Amino acid sequence: MIFPPVLQIPDPILNIARSLEHAGFEAWCVGGSLRDRLLGHPQSDFDIATSATPDEVQRLFPRTVAVGVKYGTVGVLDPDRVLHEVTTFRRDVSTDGRHAVVQYGVSLDDDLARRDFTINAIAYHPLRHEWRDPFAGKQDLEGRLIRAVGNPAQRFAEDYLRILRALRFSARFEFAIDPQTWSAARAAASGLKQLSAERVRDEWFKGLQTARSVRRFASLWREAGAASVWIPELEQGEKQTSPEPPASVRDPVLLTALLTQAPSTVLRRLKASNAEIERALAIERGPEQPAESFPTAVRRWLSQVGPAAPDLAALWMLRMGKEPAWSPVVEAIRERGDPLTRADLAVSGNDVQALGASGPDVGRVLSALLDQVLEEPSRNQRDQLLHQARKLLQ
Ligand code: ATP
Ligand code: MG
Repeated sequence: MIFPPVLQIPDPILNIARSLEHAGFEAWCVGGSLRDRLLGHPQSDFDIATSATPDEVQRLFPRTVAVGVKYGTVGVLDPDRVLHEVTTFRRDVSTDGRHAVVQYGVSLDDDLARRDFTINAIAYHPLRHEWRDPFAGKQDLEGRLIRAVGNPAQRFAEDYLRILRALRFSARFEFAIDPQTWSAARAAASGLKQLSAERVRDEWFKGLQTARSVRRFASLWREAGAASVWIPELEQGEKQTSPEPPASVRDPVLLTALLTQAPSTVLRRLKASNAEIERALAIERGPEQPAESFPTAVRRWLSQVGPAAPDLAALWMLRMGKEPAWSPVVEAIRERGDPLTRADLAVSGNDVQALGASGPDVGRVLSALLDQVLEEPSRNQRDQLLHQARKLLQ
């Protein structure tokens, strides 16, 4: 791989770089977007690193957003109101494994030196078309290696999240982790305890979403010792016989349910959202499939699992690597609009009360009616159900 002499940089980025340079500051494209471009899959926007301080950036551009000013990042809005991140060259003066105190007024090379991996520490000057690669990131892109910038043990101790980032990038690009970086990561894994659950969750989710192989990503977590600290459920593992999930399935809740027996416990520990934890609980509750593939059994199952049905079906497919026999039955039921819940019944609680039922009897009657309707959807006729309700109340 050679550095292309000229990179196509989008106009809004070029304009921001020009403004900064005209005002006497340096402006470079840096980080993940350059890496992705060199690997041939451009997707992310170019981040800009500059010698201007956050204050100076805010003064220079008419419309800015203080996205991460504490760490030197200002969002600059272009004329189409698209936000581009501009980050001041910084050096981390003190670190405690989680947070850094940052210092400005440093050089581009200082800024590149505080970045995590060599492949993330490359810079390109969008106006002068100059490359800066003091840690031979290009060589590691060619060799498909994740290698820490500088002393790996020290870099992980500064910020333990870097261990998880190494695993994520390794799984995403199918790059090996350089032996020294790898052994330092394993040695430092107990430090992962210090991280906040939210940062760990973001890494776990992003990793699942971007890994070429979800299984390899999970293995990396186990082998590095990250699983034993944050997701011990991964060690107990799942049925290892199930195949690699297809690339079209990258839903982190579903994949956590595939890889662990107790996804709700994992997601609660990782401080996932209530909606995500609820989804995991419903998956655990199951049943994981209908008792049989006949329409009645499938309707009963759909009625029981409610909104969890698509997740349970997707999980079944992931585990078995094929479509369940009952999947077309589910589709037919959905297409016909067969009644599946009390709310679908042709009679309501009020109707049952009007027949003289009260208290728990109302629910009991509705349940019995639903049961009959699940058995045979054509029974969902108001007159017929009222007749049945009267019989039940006798
Ligand atoms: P992604 O595709 O996940 O966005 P990225 O490399 O762009 O990958 P970001 O989290 O967006 O990752 O960070 C942008 C850049 O900032 C990285 O490329 C890296 O140079 C630097 N960086 C981010 N997090 C860290 C960290 N914890 N320690 C050191 N450098 C970091
Ligand atoms: Mg990025």
